[in-house]
Amino acid sequence: LVRRMRPFGTTIFAEMSALAVRTGAVNLGQGFPDTDGPPEMLAAAAEALRGGQNQYPPGPGIPALRAAVAAHQRRFWGLDYDPDGQVLVTAGATEAIAAAILGLCEAGDEVVCFEPYYDSYAASIALAGAVRRPVTLRPGDGGRYAFDPAELRAAFGPRTRLVLLNSPHNPTGKVFDADELALIARLCQEFDTLAVTDEVYEHLVFTDAGSPHIPLATLPGMWERTLRVSSAGKTFSCTGWKVGWASGPAPLVAATMRVKQFLTFVNGAPLQPAVAVALALPDDYYDGYRSGLQARRDQLSAGLVEAGFEVLVPEGTYFVTADITALGGRDGVEFCRSLPERCGVVAVPTQVFYDHVEAGRRLVRFAFCKRPEVLAEAVNRLSALG
Ligand code: PMP
Ligand code: GLN
Repeated sequence: LVRRMRPFGTTIFAEMSALAVRTGAVNLGQGFPDTDGPPEMLAAAAEALRGGQNQYPPGPGIPALRAAVAAHQRRFWGLDYDPDGQVLVTAGATEAIAAAILGLCEAGDEVVCFEPYYDSYAASIALAGAVRRPVTLRPGDGGRYAFDPAELRAAFGPRTRLVLLNSPHNPTGKVFDADELALIARLCQEFDTLAVTDEVYEHLVFTDAGSPHIPLATLPGMWERTLRVSSAGKTFSCTGWKVGWASGPAPLVAATMRVKQFLTFVNGAPLQPAVAVALALPDDYYDGYRSGLQARRDQLSAGLVEAGFEVLVPEGTYFVTADITALGGRDGVEFCRSLPERCGVVAVPTQVFYDHVEAGRRLVRFAFCKRPEVLAEAVNRLSALG
């Protein structure tokens, strides 16, 4: 195994899902829904499969999907992208992020990101020979995660190539607000860096969040330097489809495509027209998706409090983080490894998403993108812990 990959073992998601299968535990670890997405989308995929859309699609993605991606961003965020040249379909957000970093970072370039970070970030940065500069998110007043502006500024320097920003943020559920984004934008401009934004949870900001979702690309001077990434997996509950996209100025999209063509070339032929259908669904779909998950957030958060956890209620995403200290937990990894045996539930230790492990030592993440009866069963089992 090459040196740059040696620090990376099996992903925590694979480890914890395997543990759930082995022990028969309720799996609130890996974030995937246990119900299917919109029936219109599923029908369109079935039709495309039967209709012979089973060969290589065009490199940038089928025109209908690129048009739908552009229309969706105009509709929800007022962002304009030309479907020809400013939109690229990828094998999930994961590939878009990896290809963007590989296509935009020289060895030794620095990437500013916020920890805890989604696990593929560190691996993609390492594959590029780049260096990550994590800024720590810490639970602050009222349980909202925040960063120290001075720490963010200090992470920027002459080698900074880009900032990799995930908002709404997995695993903390933080939604970056206008002031936080303005600071990030100011630093990007001061240090003349690019931004890659991971917005896969763009439609999961709850009504009581401190801020709506604000794409970084909508800030003054940022469209020109931002590659915006999203995916169908979360919004349409089809994580196994791996259909994502990147949008941005043509040179950033072209750099990403240069790499993508040699990673997977193309992907998801019969799924692409179906995702185009889903993106055009009326607002009712998006509202129902969000409100359904908000109810389940409340259900699981209340259950975790009852079970004795200190809960950090998320503003967005479908994850809730909790501190295990009150339950006698000292270390999230130990806690999560023994949880299936203790009570038949799987969660994910968030410390594995930090460079500064201490900051996340006692935090664990539960996914609530599950049917209410599954969450109720998990809560029931967790209440045995106290
Ligand atoms: N970024 C974040 C923050 C995620 O939570 C996920 C999904 N787990 C991804 C990227 C990957 O998305 P996809 O499955 O579309 O590759
Ligand atoms: N994004 C999902 C999560 O955070 C799962 C991703 C994965 O399994 N690679 O749980």
